[in-house]
Amino acid sequence: MTIETRIRESAPVLWANPDYQATGFPDREKAFSRSDYVQACERWRTMQPLFRTLFPDSVGEDGIVSPLTELDAGMAGATLGGEARLVLKRDDSLAVAGSVKARGGFHEVAQHAYEVAIRTGVARPGDGFAALASAGARVCLGHHRLLVASTGNLGLSVGLIGRALGFSVEVHMSRDARTWKKQRLRQAGARVIEHASDYISAVRLAAAEAEADPAAHFVDDERSAALFLGYAAAAPEVKAQLETLGLAVGPDRPLFVYLPCGIGGAPGGIAWGLRQAFGADVHCLFVEPVAAPCMLVQMLAGRNEARSVYDFGLDGRTLADGLAVTQASRLVADMMRTHLAGILTEADAILLGHVRRLYREAGLRLEPSATAGLSGPVRLLHTGEGEALLARLGIGAERERAIHLVWSTGGALVPDPAFRAWLD
Ligand SMILES: *Cc1c(COP(=O)(O)O)cnc(C)c1O
Repeated sequence: MTIETRIRESAPVLWANPDYQATGFPDREKAFSRSDYVQACERWRTMQPLFRTLFPDSVGEDGIVSPLTELDAGMAGATLGGEARLVLKRDDSLAVAGSVKARGGFHEVAQHAYEVAIRTGVARPGDGFAALASAGARVCLGHHRLLVASTGNLGLSVGLIGRALGFSVEVHMSRDARTWKKQRLRQAGARVIEHASDYISAVRLAAAEAEADPAAHFVDDERSAALFLGYAAAAPEVKAQLETLGLAVGPDRPLFVYLPCGIGGAPGGIAWGLRQAFGADVHCLFVEPVAAPCMLVQMLAGRNEARSVYDFGLDGRTLADGLAVTQASRLVADMMRTHLAGILTEADAILLGHVRRLYREAGLRLEPSATAGLSGPVRLLHTGEGEALLARLGIGAERERAIHLVWSTGGALVPDPAFRAWLD
């Protein structure tokens, strides 16, 4: 059976990317350069005091960072072998936004706010991001609109930081968005516009609305460089944390990273940043729901053609609302051609199983989207497709010392009743 047929039948697949350059890097990157990465990491670092000032009760000394914790291999249902280890990157616990979207969203909104402040003269070049916490800056930003479309979490991230800085915020929510996320945003003073359509339609509507107002800034999940680079800036954090755990990544100790993928910005930015930080020693895989494998179908389509999951007779409806995206970002798909090892898809029922197991056995409260990466190790290590991918990557005995990093992407803000419903 071809992979296309299996996608159509909602059967889980593990696809090995034929264009992946495991060891060699492309001579010239397309949209972003090494220096974009270095600057983004530095910018993200210098933004942290601003985030502490804006959210003194929830952002600690270290700023917007999440723990990296070791997990028992049994949690992923895999036998890792030898000295291989399983670690979990807890972006579900990121302050304020409660999801990975804090990285991209906060980075883009703070950067945009700074540009507005410089342009209007409330801050001078060289002032630094702290200038944005002044009363004058707030008043100024209050005259500026910030628009975003969201299945929920990007809206929460952009909405909460946007309002904290004083922006007038409008969040366009797709059919997938949960009521509690809308309420939370309204409480923070954001305007929530509800759409009955899917996420990509909501993005296009919000973009059109922003287009009509030159003073409005649209956080564009399909095309934004600032979002992508904000995610990429997570790499130094991971590198430092692995070193603290005594897990030094290298040719004899490869790092496998499993990232839940929606439109692609968060996992794409993170994967690209990790490739900058670890080079040929890291291999990233995306995980998508079987109902919405938008990045997989875009990768299969090739560079010059846009494909959506509708072309495969799928409806894009999934319990994993953060991943309920019908068409991937073309920018990210292009960026990832040479940097992504593969993509696996997973059924909603399995994701729910992960939610329950992580809660009962490790006391973690993750949303279904956030658990998708947990399917990675078993699929890589214990299936024929996985063996083939490992062989293609030239991984032999090194697998006995590999580090498997599951990126958990959201959950901290999920209210009790919503979480209970998943458990039941
Ligand atoms: C948004 C999101 C993702 C994926 O990010 P994309 O940029 O849409 O690919 C994964 N998990 C959660 C919980 C999310 O909110």
